[in-house]
Amino acid sequence: MTQQSEMTELEHSSTTHDHNGCREKAIHTAEQLCSQRGVRFTPIRREVLELIWESHRAVKAYDLLDRIKPKAGTAKPATVYRALDFLLEQGLIHKVESLNAFIGCSFSDRRHEQLLLTCVQCHEVEERPGERVMEAIAKELEQAAFTMQRKAIEIHGICGRCAPTLMSS
Ligand SMILES: [Zn+2]
Ligand SMILES: [Zn+2]
Ligand SMILES: [Zn+2]
Repeated sequence: MTQQSEMTELEHSSTTHDHNGCREKAIHTAEQLCSQRGVRFTPIRREVLELIWESHRAVKAYDLLDRIKPKAGTAKPATVYRALDFLLEQGLIHKVESLNAFIGCSFSDRRHEQLLLTCVQCHEVEERPGERVMEAIAKELEQAAFTMQRKAIEIHGICGRCAPTLMSS
């Protein structure tokens, strides 16, 4: 087991990286993509996306509802669910099926596969394009004459930041 995480991954940690930068980049990309595609990035859609990008942790819909209420007065659940549907359709967020929760997409400006690494300790989800993994799976499925409909792979485990703390405790 060579679990020597590279610096790039450590830099991704919410404790060491500039997360405002992540969030601003995501919102900026969303603005650009929506205007290119001629779809409206309404205030509620923006707010939901901003809330999801508050961290790299997967967020459940009801947590979003809780957080929106104090500011927007009466955010109806349906409004928030519609905003989530929109963000999913536009590829700006992903659903982590195993957690029934959402994360902001880190690669929304390009076509990519989804390899979602979920830490059971800190609940952060790291998205990786995982091209090689997906290629291998595509080959396997071809042999099985199986047509894939949804291409997200979710892996649960302990992230590189949590592993050292677990070992020392
Ligand atoms: Zn970040
Ligand atoms: Zn993505
Ligand atoms: Zn972790």
